[in-house]
Amino acid sequence: MNNPNIQNPCDVFTFSDYLSLMKELGQPAFRAKQLAQWLWVHEATNYDEMSNLPADLRTQLVKAAPLKRASVRKVQHSKDGTRKYLLCFADGVCVEAVGLPSNIPSSNVDDVKPEQRQRLSVCVSSQAGCSLGCTFCATGQGGLVRNLLPGEIAEQVRIVAADFGIRASSIVIMGQGEPFQNYDAVLAGLRILNTSTDDGGFGIGARHITISTAGIIKGIDTLATEPEQFTLAVSLHSAVQTTRDKIMPGLRGQSLEKLRTALVDYYKQTGRRPSLEYALIDEVNVNIVEITALKDFAQTTKAHVNLIPLNTTSSNLESASQLKTTQIAKELRDAGINVTIRKERGSDIAAACGQLTQEKRG
Ligand code: SAH
Ligand code: SF4
Repeated sequence: MNNPNIQNPCDVFTFSDYLSLMKELGQPAFRAKQLAQWLWVHEATNYDEMSNLPADLRTQLVKAAPLKRASVRKVQHSKDGTRKYLLCFADGVCVEAVGLPSNIPSSNVDDVKPEQRQRLSVCVSSQAGCSLGCTFCATGQGGLVRNLLPGEIAEQVRIVAADFGIRASSIVIMGQGEPFQNYDAVLAGLRILNTSTDDGGFGIGARHITISTAGIIKGIDTLATEPEQFTLAVSLHSAVQTTRDKIMPGLRGQSLEKLRTALVDYYKQTGRRPSLEYALIDEVNVNIVEITALKDFAQTTKAHVNLIPLNTTSSNLESASQLKTTQIAKELRDAGINVTIRKERGSDIAAACGQLTQEKRG
């Protein structure tokens, strides 16, 4: 917040913004941590609730940094427990976020307190819309509206976790948008999530935070140098250049060989295996040539492969059959590749991957 006179503390970029704000208001540094805790741990909706801040500071803050939280415009409940949220920010721009609850394995139940027996994964948007225009993805069809701020990424997690009444145990940046086209803000947002609750963050371990990219090489290279152990997923969808160029037109001109090298280097540098997301599209990326190329790409990059049944969008593309999917999984496993078939959730409320669309407050 370069100019605290006009900024909403929920638009914060890093925790040091709170320090600057407090300094500007003549306050000691510990007030910054108190403010962060009120915002992200205690979820205050106005300054009056911040009872350990002096009354005159609260009055100053109302003027200097008016607090405007994101609002929930719509919640949809899937029969499988998934919930999809339409969240709107102060400027009227809205994004979707998804909450995916799961029970911990029954063998572990006795060791765990009742309130911790459910896990919650939150699927978060990194941009409103997306400029990359992948043909199979609903988000890509609407274009980019704007980048999200770090605090807007944190707001999505806060609202979803509060609605479920449990803390978020893992985060996937797989909602709307391409995170590496908004790199700095996304990393800053993830740091708010990763910071301990004692310091005013969400306390979510970096290994439980996954960033999914369409494969922007600069972002992959930079992520490898970050101190946190965030998990990387790359949406590959085809290891054949001509096919990838067709279905992911926004990345045309970026060679798959360079992507392969970036992933090899990423593994060398971090020791962490990336995963490759592969939506199975009938008559597009499931023939012998495509699967052979996928096998080779996964072997050389040491990546885990996540096979995803294609979700329906307005495109004419169709998912490969279940039989085909299990055959491909077996073929990859036989080649020594670690494979999972993603179970899609929330498809009845269009909350599955690639079904999130852009809606504006009307
Ligand atoms: N832009 C990033 C993150 C958001 S998309 C990326 O592309 O990785 C989240 C995931 O959903 C990606 O793996 C994306 O490729 C996948 N996806 C998009 N449309 C899909 C669809 N119709 N069916 C299944 N998965 C889809
Ligand atoms: Fe954007 Fe990812 Fe959708 Fe492609 S798949 S349009 S990169 S959100």
